[in-house]
Amino acid sequence: MKLYSTNNTSASVSFKEAVFNSMPQDKGLYMPVSIPRLSDEFISKLGELTLPEIAFGVAKNILGNTIPEADLKALIDDAINFDAPVVELEDDVYVLELFHGPSLAFKDFGARFMSRVMSYFLQAGEKQLDVLVATSGDTGGAVALGFLGVPNTRVTILYPKGKVSGVQEQQLTTNGQNIRALEVAGTFDDCQALVKQAFTDAELNSVYRLTSANSINIARLIPQTFYYFNAWAQLLRKGKSKVAFAVPSGNFGNIGAGLLAWKMGLPVEQFIAATNANDTVPAFLKTGVYEPKPSVQTISNAMDVGNPSNWVRIADLFKGDEAALKQLITGYSYNDEQTVEAIEKVYADHQYVVCPHTAIAWKALKEWQSEHAEVTGVFLSTAHPCKFPDVIPAKVAANISVPESVKELEGREKQAVQMPASFDAFKTYLLNNI
Ligand SMILES: *Cc1c(COP(=O)(O)O)cnc(C)c1O
Repeated sequence: MKLYSTNNTSASVSFKEAVFNSMPQDKGLYMPVSIPRLSDEFISKLGELTLPEIAFGVAKNILGNTIPEADLKALIDDAINFDAPVVELEDDVYVLELFHGPSLAFKDFGARFMSRVMSYFLQAGEKQLDVLVATSGDTGGAVALGFLGVPNTRVTILYPKGKVSGVQEQQLTTNGQNIRALEVAGTFDDCQALVKQAFTDAELNSVYRLTSANSINIARLIPQTFYYFNAWAQLLRKGKSKVAFAVPSGNFGNIGAGLLAWKMGLPVEQFIAATNANDTVPAFLKTGVYEPKPSVQTISNAMDVGNPSNWVRIADLFKGDEAALKQLITGYSYNDEQTVEAIEKVYADHQYVVCPHTAIAWKALKEWQSEHAEVTGVFLSTAHPCKFPDVIPAKVAANISVPESVKELEGREKQAVQMPASFDAFKTYLLNNI
């Protein structure tokens, strides 16, 4: 597998280089030089395959012979060791539950696959790999649990102070070992800017071997294609083959992976990009003007992104064919009040508790289906509702069943370093704590 930068399509690097560099020096994002279509035979037989089998077939298709088959299979079986079931809520409305991994969010797919790919490529005796990761809440937990105890690696998490939930903060700050957490006085965008600047800082790069675990890393994106194929396979077994996916979107990695799956031949009728008040993409789909904005804080805080990193990848997939892009992707944006109403409505109608991000996708799907009743809709549930108890109305929240893994976090000691949103402070910390 070869990859180019979205800012320079003539140069190309190996998968290993792309995974460790995370971002090209020219500040573009890595994209595969070729995205082969899966065979019609594979697509038509999806209904007979398990999630790990599908994951292996899809990964082999895009990675080529980058990782030998037996190693790739072992890696996938280890990384993708939890389920992603499609649950029927009503006729032609399904929820794809992506929260059965260790951090209870879909980011476990990306983080677990990436940590194992990195560990696979690390040669014995090589310099320690330092993962820098900015999080609006869920990334940090997934990465921390994905890398916890992985030899020769260390993770530094930057999270915005006061803007993550209690369970999220516990998942970020109670690990110890090779995981350290920085509590930044600023927004998620500030955290992301600090990480991006660190990658282009010559002095830091001379003492650290830095890599990123954010959704800009190509090793995060690839495993997220697996569950789109697997969801489609589950619907195929139920005799459904006209499918639309509604995706709660922030940095647009999740929906970007769906589009990558589509590019590999998954027959999807429509992608529905569902956002909170940070509506840069829905506004673009409506007006044709792409205008990144500072992020605003909402109750669906994992989607508080004003300048979605992965959008350049999506634009690159369509190679300037804006008409095709606008045909395949529809956008909806909802405010906090509408989000709360949606949580209440889903519970009232189906006795099913959704997290605020998931609620936005459900609402977008219903709105789209009101004009496309013939298409089966799947909305992605990106996190377990117990991660966001404070923003779910108490009457509904009372019905959340809290997993054992969360109960165990309570009472563990918080370990976090306070940090202003200043690159000088961040750099000084890193240089003093090698
Ligand atoms: C990260 C996250 C999102 C946004 O996903 P992107 O890939 O950044 O678009 C949505 N919901 C939850 C719960 C998340 O953790």
